[in-house]
Amino acid sequence: MAKKTKVSWVDDSRSSDLIALYKNQGVSVELKEGWFWETIAWMLYIVTFTLYKRDKFLKQFATTIGNKVGFPRDWSFRQVDYVMPHEGQHVRQGKICGLCISPWLGLLPFGILYILLPIPAGFAYFRYLFEKDATRVTIQKIKVEGVKDGKTEDEILEEMHKQAEYSAKRVSSSDYMWSVPQSFALKGYRKMVKKVWLAS
Ligand SMILES: [Zn+2]
Repeated sequence: MAKKTKVSWVDDSRSSDLIALYKNQGVSVELKEGWFWETIAWMLYIVTFTLYKRDKFLKQFATTIGNKVGFPRDWSFRQVDYVMPHEGQHVRQGKICGLCISPWLGLLPFGILYILLPIPAGFAYFRYLFEKDATRVTIQKIKVEGVKDGKTEDEILEEMHKQAEYSAKRVSSSDYMWSVPQSFALKGYRKMVKKVWLAS
């Protein structure tokens, strides 16, 4: 949970470099405030029959819509920096759904796959796949940075598994409207770690 005392990423000088870096790739890293994000929050609140609270969406999560990636004001630069590769992958996924032309063109097919198919809750297999693919990028980064930092193989693998387990539990929880059963997600994410680890 976010602590009130920490410095917001918005007031951290390193954020402007990160924003500029992603802007070059056509990604808009922004504060999750204003009419755009408020509208999404209300829509989510309505389509989930009030299960998904506005504050939860706006204040606890990073979200990608099209080429826009929104982060809550409360987050620190470290949190934003850590989560950004995952969100960047969602922009790429959206672009692929938009025939590699634009993530906005892919928004509808991406949204339908992500939200509805094949079952909106309980077995939203595409939501699970998109999330696992985005977390794969984070896991890859843990590996690359671990090697760079001179960590042992055991240490790196442990860190990769820890992140994968955390993400698998979240993707199968209410946070992601119970996309798939937890045991299924844990198994799939473990397999993904193995693949990333064995890849050169
Ligand atoms: Zn995600």
